[in-house]
Amino acid sequence: MNDQLFAGYRRALLLMLFVVVLSGMARAAERPRVYVGLPPQRWLVQQLASNRVEIGLLLAPGQNPHTFEPAARQVKEMVAADGYLLMGLPFERALLQKLRAVNPGLRVFDLTQGIPRREQSGQAHVGHGGAAEDHDDGCGAADPHVWLTPAGMGIMASNAAVALSALDPAGREWYEVRRVACQQACAQLDAELRALLAPVRGGLMLTYHASWGYFADAYGLRQVAVEAEGRPPTARQLAALMDLAMQEQVRYVFTEPPYDPKPCRTVARQIGAEVAVIDPLAEAWDRNLRAIAAQVRKALERPPARQEGQMP
Ligand SMILES: [Zn+2]
Repeated sequence: MNDQLFAGYRRALLLMLFVVVLSGMARAAERPRVYVGLPPQRWLVQQLASNRVEIGLLLAPGQNPHTFEPAARQVKEMVAADGYLLMGLPFERALLQKLRAVNPGLRVFDLTQGIPRREQSGQAHVGHGGAAEDHDDGCGAADPHVWLTPAGMGIMASNAAVALSALDPAGREWYEVRRVACQQACAQLDAELRALLAPVRGGLMLTYHASWGYFADAYGLRQVAVEAEGRPPTARQLAALMDLAMQEQVRYVFTEPPYDPKPCRTVARQIGAEVAVIDPLAEAWDRNLRAIAAQVRKALERPPARQEGQMP
């Protein structure tokens, strides 16, 4: 082969490589851009889409979804978004208003459609008759923590698959296969949690923030929150809580990362309980829920009663 011919081959090869790289970049750029608020939503989209979509996440670890406001940089980025998957959190209302002005083509899908809503309750109702009042802790009257049961996540998987197929019709089959697998995994996790928590049915989860209402409902537990109407409890509310905790022999007070642990420590110290941190926003949603169920079981389990005359 002479040199000229070789150089020609080399040019052709380089050109082909260049074309391949360019078309790869074009494909990457064509991926739909989907935004979500919470880490468990990103987990869900990843289950269904794998790398077929680009996922933008608004909340960083440790941020509180009830007080969160997206940074100007995040809003700017979302001008190029194709879809937003709604969780029904307060910050989303203001965000969508802003986005509709700058990105009229943005398609918004409600992930929570079809999930039976419970009222926001479990907040320090002790001391005023236990009646559910219309609290607004920034959550609104309906409890927004719908992602914290496998049943809720299963419904969200359906909604997310519909949303992704609408944004990317060529991927319908891809999303559908993964939607089925995700829902099977949710059903299996539900059965696992049911079995794990059966021995502590009726138990009381004393939590700082009322995140665990759906979870408690699903597994026959009761939730009472230290926080009252989105604020730290008053001295009187705290006293009522402590009476309840003593009565119920509460051994653990649950809190979560964005909240000040001090009120929990106060309650815990006075009733001889421990503080346990459980995170409703961890991204590895399935592993997290399984670990939390194990912690709740441990917290609510009664030590076996010692029988009279039993040898040590
Ligand atoms: Zn919350």
